[in-house]
Amino acid sequence: MPTTLITNIGEAFTGDIAKPTAEISTLLVENGRIAALDPPADTRADMVIDAKGGAVMPGIVDGHVHPVFGEWTPTQNTIGWIRNYLHGGTTTMVSAGELHVPGLDYNNLSPDLMTNLALVTRATTGRTRWSGVKLHAGTVLMVPGMTEAHFDKLAEAGSILAKFLFYPLVEQNKDEAQRYVAWCHDRGIRVKVHTGGVSRSGANAVCGFETLSWLQPDVAAHVSGGPIPMSDADLDALVDETAFSLELCSSGSYRSFIRVAERLADAGRLDRLTLGTDTPGGTGVLARGMLRNILFLASVCGLSAGQAIAVGTGNTALAHGLDVGFLREDAPADIVLAGRIDGSAGSTVSEAIEHGDLPGISNVMIDGQVRVKGRSEQTPPPAIRAELTVEDWNAFGSCPFCG
Ligand SMILES: [Zn+2]
Repeated sequence: MPTTLITNIGEAFTGDIAKPTAEISTLLVENGRIAALDPPADTRADMVIDAKGGAVMPGIVDGHVHPVFGEWTPTQNTIGWIRNYLHGGTTTMVSAGELHVPGLDYNNLSPDLMTNLALVTRATTGRTRWSGVKLHAGTVLMVPGMTEAHFDKLAEAGSILAKFLFYPLVEQNKDEAQRYVAWCHDRGIRVKVHTGGVSRSGANAVCGFETLSWLQPDVAAHVSGGPIPMSDADLDALVDETAFSLELCSSGSYRSFIRVAERLADAGRLDRLTLGTDTPGGTGVLARGMLRNILFLASVCGLSAGQAIAVGTGNTALAHGLDVGFLREDAPADIVLAGRIDGSAGSTVSEAIEHGDLPGISNVMIDGQVRVKGRSEQTPPPAIRAELTVEDWNAFGSCPFCG
């Protein structure tokens, strides 16, 4: 199997919120995984990427997307959105439900229909790696009346997530909703719940602290609003009195976003924080959406660049039970190379990010395969670009870039 050595690394972001940066100058990729951090600079490899003093970070994990049919999204009539997100540094995505299928009648959602919709999406859009991106689709939107057999089918198909969105989370459904959570957990499926006010569908109930405290999901979705946030009092109680993951998305209120991030930081619980774009949707198609979330955390909410990156990589991966999001030995080699852009603040990627300035992406690798080569189509180029050299073309059975 071909090997890749990244040399002259100036900054390394680990994705680990407990230790978000590492002092390494080289990184070796073997068999699609990170084989070594900081091996000798003269280690032989089939491909060498000279980072030229730039940064390496784990591929970004968008914890909240709404896929429909492959790279087409009907919400903004856009084709190729997944490729565009890849060029914004995103290498893994988790579906928060496939509710944008044209013609779906939100007033007539049955257990069979919703289960089958998730199964079909899992077997089609979720089966292929669009532009190389790891998209986890097939997230069932739960409705009343489901049986264990529905969850068996979803688990068998490999669904990793189930979501409460249209489900009426009211007192008389409490037992059933809690049963669903238990059934999901029995099968290794995580549970996410829409929070805040009514969504674009117009078909869901308001969900705040009281509901979340008895439901105990794995992830409370877009707690700063998707698009309408819960009250400040509910947000504070959520941070102080629960322990599950809290997700912030591009679709919400900036004001509530700051409130949650600062309160979690003060409590020493940034490990609970996860990120997503909650797109495609009414907020749009946001190729640089995850980067902007990271910049916002670092430049406005007081996190360091390393912490902000860890929230959008390792934290979000862990909250959804995924093995990606970290730069460490034996992790999948999903790696973004970036540098500071001419004109941005500071002299390093960290300083630029903490000033709120976008980093310039040069290369993106997924499972060791280079998917973005030389420069991103979505960010300005870094002032100093990484340089990629294939040392041994014969080591690659097929083209190392297009597979
Ligand atoms: Zn959503």
